[in-house]
Amino acid sequence: MAVLDVHQRELRNLRLSVTDRCNLRCAYCMPEEEYTWLARDQILDFEELALLVDAFVLAGVDKVRLTGGEPLVRRDLDVLVEMLARKPELRDLALTTNGILLAGLAQRLKRAGLHRVTVSLDTLHPERFLALTRRDEHAAVLAGLEAARSAGFTHTKIDSVVLRGTNEDELAALVEHGKRVDAEVRFIEYMDVGGATKWSMDRVVPRAEILERLSAEYGAITPLHEDGSAPAERFLLADGTVFGIIASTSAPFCGRCDRSRVTADGQWFLCLYARLGIDLRGRLRAGATREELAAGIERVWTGRGDRGAEERLVHHQRGALAPREELATNPHLEMHTRGG
Ligand code: SAM
Ligand code: SF4
Ligand code: SF4
Repeated sequence: MAVLDVHQRELRNLRLSVTDRCNLRCAYCMPEEEYTWLARDQILDFEELALLVDAFVLAGVDKVRLTGGEPLVRRDLDVLVEMLARKPELRDLALTTNGILLAGLAQRLKRAGLHRVTVSLDTLHPERFLALTRRDEHAAVLAGLEAARSAGFTHTKIDSVVLRGTNEDELAALVEHGKRVDAEVRFIEYMDVGGATKWSMDRVVPRAEILERLSAEYGAITPLHEDGSAPAERFLLADGTVFGIIASTSAPFCGRCDRSRVTADGQWFLCLYARLGIDLRGRLRAGATREELAAGIERVWTGRGDRGAEERLVHHQRGALAPREELATNPHLEMHTRGG
């Protein structure tokens, strides 16, 4: 029986960040030149991460997504994947990556037992990619997507953040690319989370406009009314193609949110917008067993009332969640620390 929070939401889904480091500098996530990094001796090793996952599994989690920063910059990530893949209670073990290192690692990750990959890709134009991410790695990302397919991954997803003035004219092209590489595209509204210090409402392309733009290209779009906690609403095009929209900014889905996040140094955040995390590393390193950790996790979850994105909606003069100065002293607020 999964444990329920105060809004009757289950604890099912864990986003586990394995590093705060990244080999891109996406404008919506890491727009600054300098960052304050997590202390190296506080980063959990694979045994510690696996024990934490064990505790979460005991508390009801059956889906784990490895993320970061860029998870593939963490050395030997396939070893961690192998450790986690051995847990039969995990119905879903996925990875979100920017794809740069995927071409070289896809086969090892598949062999290690990873179930699925999601590759973030916002544009099909190399020069736009360079402007958006400040790294000339577009070809590597495309190769990574191809490699995922060759390695035998199925149910691959492409996540695209839509930014006004940057890529809102590429929605159909991204859907077409998804068809070519056998991946389902999900369009994500630009969010005002920590890290997004350049966020403003006029750069958000809301779900309604994404649908309008796509129906101008494809004609009628049918919503697939699915139950469940997945953040993406899925839609069907006349040719049978399915795509998703994650409308976190204009139409948040907090009411059915079963996810939480653990940072690479073992801080547990009950909401993407939460200011404070719960220190699991301290308990872990003090020798807590998985049963003790699980009991603590359950106790905390039953008191969870977070609805961060919904609360942001009522702020009419909305701006970035956290200013640069605050992020510099509190890297745990950063999107690249808490895993997106
Ligand atoms: N580095 C990996 C990647 O980019 O796929 C994993 C970590 S990244 C923080 C996870 C996801 O968060 C990515 O798909 C990224 O596009 C998304 N993201 C980051 N900042 C965002 C923002 N301000 N609004 C919406 N999505 C954002
Ligand atoms: Fe981009 Fe992901 Fe790196 Fe953030 S963590 S800068 S979204 S690649
Ligand atoms: Fe869940 Fe918080 Fe995101 Fe709402 S804002 S969907 S509660 S993580």
